[in-house]
Amino acid sequence: MKTLKERNKQVNWHPYTQMKSVDIIPIVSGNGSYLYSEDGTAYIDAVSSWWVTLHGHSHPYIASKVTDQLNTLEQVIFAGFTHPKAIELSERLLALLPRNQQKVFYSDNGSTAVEVALKMCIQYHVNLQQPRNKIIAFKNAYHGDTFGAMSVSERNFWTSPFHDRLFEVVFIDTPTQENLPTLFETIDAYVEDVVCFIYEPLVQGAAGMLMHEAAHLSELLNYCQSKGILLIQDEIFVGFGRTGTLFAADQLTCNPDVMCFSKGLTGGTMPMGITTATSAIYEAFYADEKTKAFFHGHSFTANPLACSAALASLDLLLEPETMKKINLISEMHQVFSKKIPKEKALVRHCGTILAIELKFDEKSSYFNSKQPFLYDFFLKRNIIMRPLGNIIYLVPPYCISESDLEVIYDSILELVESN
Ligand SMILES: *Cc1c(COP(=O)(O)O)cnc(C)c1O
Repeated sequence: MKTLKERNKQVNWHPYTQMKSVDIIPIVSGNGSYLYSEDGTAYIDAVSSWWVTLHGHSHPYIASKVTDQLNTLEQVIFAGFTHPKAIELSERLLALLPRNQQKVFYSDNGSTAVEVALKMCIQYHVNLQQPRNKIIAFKNAYHGDTFGAMSVSERNFWTSPFHDRLFEVVFIDTPTQENLPTLFETIDAYVEDVVCFIYEPLVQGAAGMLMHEAAHLSELLNYCQSKGILLIQDEIFVGFGRTGTLFAADQLTCNPDVMCFSKGLTGGTMPMGITTATSAIYEAFYADEKTKAFFHGHSFTANPLACSAALASLDLLLEPETMKKINLISEMHQVFSKKIPKEKALVRHCGTILAIELKFDEKSSYFNSKQPFLYDFFLKRNIIMRPLGNIIYLVPPYCISESDLEVIYDSILELVESN
């Protein structure tokens, strides 16, 4: 009999993976912050399965809510029809977001949420009969893998085969006290023609958990808004408690025009994306002319199963115990950060996110030759960690136990000290 590994190798092609050099581990079940492989090994999921799992794997409460929904209504076309779970989720989510967010547009994942946001902003100006051309994004940005999302992301070797086919974007530095005046100048140079500015607030995840100050970002955003530039806040990674507050928006003084959500939205249970918008944006599409409508949609738009998973996840997230746990994880990260010798590594910390950029002789990069060594180092200790090059990071499910966090910290210290 062939093993799962062998059967997998024969038929499956994995994301972000050089298939020739990889050993894929079959996972057969999950529980809390653990994933169990075919041979019974229990792994601590230190990266929340690509940053999505909030309350742990196979959470019984989410499972029961999704099961109920599955037995009631599994899917319905969302053009011409709606359903109670989509209404309830939109109502509850909007109540938690900056007050100017008034409408919810559903899609399937983070990249589609970004596509929707970009198309909304582009068509907004078209509908107002003032089409604009330039889009601004941060250097080192990551907004997804579809073409629009790739276009507003950092050009690197991930995107290099497609560079000729990506639209032009003005990339600016993330804000610091020193560079703000220069950023304002850059913005002024394009201002009349800017469609929107898209950014990951506070933490640039895929770039290696790069962080900037909320106060500086607020200043930049307020400046953009004063110049009439639409703001797209990509909270796909940072939303739902990751940065220590429910949303990164809760740490900023400027309310964006459009927001994107996915990843933790359903607690990591079902794929779903959400793009929210202000009334002003919505109004630009609301007209007698059919041509002004937003012609975008996916087969599974607002899938009822995904909506009920998101509602169940919100229930869990809003329990006082969960917010307390998020704060506890943040405090533990803070205490642990101090134990890392400065000459060995740079440490970045924001809420439940902890990144450690190891100093090797080699330059920091995703292709850093130490990556496979680091990955294996943790795997051997039954910890799932997916270093971004020479940057290791912790993005744990909120249900992780203090002792499991300590196990991970100990392994990190062992690694840092042996380097
Ligand atoms: C993961 C991510 C995306 C893309 O989401 P997918 O669901 O993987 O398509 C977009 N923006 C940010 C900030 C992300 O971290």
